[in-house]
Amino acid sequence: MLKSRPFGLVDCHCIDCRRSAGAPYVQWGSVPRKDVVVTKGEPRKIPYANRIRSFAACCGTHLFFEDSEDSDTIDFTIASLDDPTPFAPQKAIFLEDKLPWVVIDKSLPSYQTIPKKRLTTNGHE
Ligand SMILES: [Zn+2]
Repeated sequence: MLKSRPFGLVDCHCIDCRRSAGAPYVQWGSVPRKDVVVTKGEPRKIPYANRIRSFAACCGTHLFFEDSEDSDTIDFTIASLDDPTPFAPQKAIFLEDKLPWVVIDKSLPSYQTIPKKRLTTNGHE
């Protein structure tokens, strides 16, 4: 359950997301860590490439992505929400890994890796 509206809505085409999800690319959103509440079960954490991906222990659904155990924010898979419909992606990242037959929405900003950081008060994009 999320206690705040997600930000940083992206389609990630990186190879790690692709392989972890078994899908061409993955839609992510971010919220402050304190705003994520797991209401049932304990996600299974898989460390890989200095990051932590979490999966539902019951069905294997990819749920979370964390830079570290204590990162301020946590990313979650938009498609795992009960209602993903309000959360369309706002950009596409890691196009350098994109599969050639995936068609990008040209109206979205897209990046070969990630956008250069713009400084804001909270340090997020
Ligand atoms: Zn990715």
